[in-house]
Amino acid sequence: RSGYFLQVAMTVFGRGERLLLLRDVTRLQQLESMRQDFVANASHELKTPLTVLKGHLENILAFSDNLSPPVEKALHSMDHQTRRMHNLVNDLLLLTRLDSAQSSDSGQDIDIPNFLQQVASDALELSGEEEHNIVIDCQTDLHLRGSPGEIRSAINNLVFNAVNYSEPGSDITISWRAIDNGAVLSVQDQGLGIDQHHIPRLTERFYRVDAGRSSDRGGTGLGLAIVKHALQLHNARLDVSSEKGKGSTFSCIFPKARVIDPTRTEEADEL
Ligand code: ADP
Repeated sequence: RSGYFLQVAMTVFGRGERLLLLRDVTRLQQLESMRQDFVANASHELKTPLTVLKGHLENILAFSDNLSPPVEKALHSMDHQTRRMHNLVNDLLLLTRLDSAQSSDSGQDIDIPNFLQQVASDALELSGEEEHNIVIDCQTDLHLRGSPGEIRSAINNLVFNAVNYSEPGSDITISWRAIDNGAVLSVQDQGLGIDQHHIPRLTERFYRVDAGRSSDRGGTGLGLAIVKHALQLHNARLDVSSEKGKGSTFSCIFPKARVIDPTRTEEADEL
């Protein structure tokens, strides 16, 4: 966070001539780091009063008998809005943490086939009364090297969206498969789908295709930004394919260096 930051670009012309451009981006880096600090501090300051408000409202609603209907309605609305703000603050805090973290090659060995069983039960909870049909399609026993918390945040956000933007009773398929250069974890729904021109902007903070629907259903507008940052920390990327009216598939593509084959022992690797 301190020191100088230089951006380097090189253009190669014919006959072996090269043009090297150096740009001092120290000030830009400082501004970016001030922005991150501001968001982190503001979110942190908001979190405590919101937690207190949320707790009081929950108690009033749980333990007060004989509330008049207008008062009860107002309290339910306050409870709903406080939860929304609480989710937003939590997402902002998570995003700032991911934003300022450095990618590292280390991490834990995540047993994805097992992990997906837990993801499925989280997904059923997220789906709530709407009861989507969660299908786990695990085509490989491969594991992943990374942070279980960050991977779980990414998958939960994708599943939350799949639930949010598809009809109750439809299938949501979470799959894990090997590819030539790594492995893919994807979440597929049969929901609204997304017009192609929106796709490049989906991971921007607060970018929404349909703002009304997103905030009605409890979305914070930060879900896919969180997915993108969590994946970047694993040298992975997000691929989106979607057809309006038919559904979407969000695929997290992990490079070979992140994939662990549990059937190969370390000794076998050294041979
Ligand atoms: P939000 O909290 O608004 O869902 P996200 O960052 O998770 O924020 O998603 C950004 C936007 O992308 C959403 O507002 C929605 O319009 C669109 N979107 C995300 N996932 C899906 C999906 N599975 N099906 C259709 N649209 C989606």
